[in-house]
Amino acid sequence: MCKGCGLCVAACPRDCIEMASHVNVKGYPPAFHAHPDKCRGCGNCGVVCPDAVIDVFREIKVKKG
Ligand code: SF4
Ligand code: SF4
Repeated sequence: MCKGCGLCVAACPRDCIEMASHVNVKGYPPAFHAHPDKCRGCGNCGVVCPDAVIDVFREIKVKKG
């Protein structure tokens, strides 16, 4: 679904997103989450994406015991 505009890359304050070197079925190099470990779930990428193809969620860690 990504059209390779790069807006999400510019909007990420943690430099988590990069553009792929291959093209997708639409013929564009898609963005991908290159560094999910650095993501803080701010949602900027999802807000700026003109095609709303990014879902942002946070994982909740539950302590056992
Ligand atoms: S949610 Fe994560 S990947 Fe998206 S802009 Fe924020 S820090 Fe970057
Ligand atoms: S995910 Fe959205 S904002 Fe990011 S490059 Fe693709 S179309 Fe653009």
